[in-house]
Amino acid sequence: MAKYAVRNIRLCTKDCLCLYVCPTGATDWENGQIDVETCIGCGDCADACPSAAISMVPFTYPRQQPRKTEVVTVMNELFQSKTEQESIASELPGRLGAAIARANRLMAEDLNREAGFMLPQSDNVKSLLREMLDDPADDFPADKVRELLKRL
Ligand code: SF4
Ligand code: SF4
Repeated sequence: MAKYAVRNIRLCTKDCLCLYVCPTGATDWENGQIDVETCIGCGDCADACPSAAISMVPFTYPRQQPRKTEVVTVMNELFQSKTEQESIASELPGRLGAAIARANRLMAEDLNREAGFMLPQSDNVKSLLREMLDDPADDFPADKVRELLKRL
């Protein structure tokens, strides 16, 4: 899968190894970002970075899977519950009530964004684990992963 390098500026300690190993100069740009047009996706910079500040990112992601009916049903019940809690909390006086209301709103937003796509529901995760089992690294805990797959 074609990838390109992305630098996390917050982790980067500046001026070190990625600048020297990159075969195209893509890591050495004034704005601190790695130049996606010049990057050939070799991954040498990510391997060399002592701060784990560089990630290799795919150009295309797997299609998002549809949400199953069971997930949507449970999600709607949780929405309903969070909305009711937000509504009750918003009538409480003071900052604590406002904070509880806000927290419920945030949880509802998280649910909308992630329900059905998180572990362990994700079919993508199961496929990834099966692929890893097919070609395991030396220290890959294959028995544990088989056990996990049975339970997901
Ligand atoms: S992946 Fe390779 S080409 Fe791209 S920035 Fe890193 S070292 Fe340079
Ligand atoms: S090797 Fe890592 S820490 Fe060093 S400049 Fe590159 S991204 Fe930053």
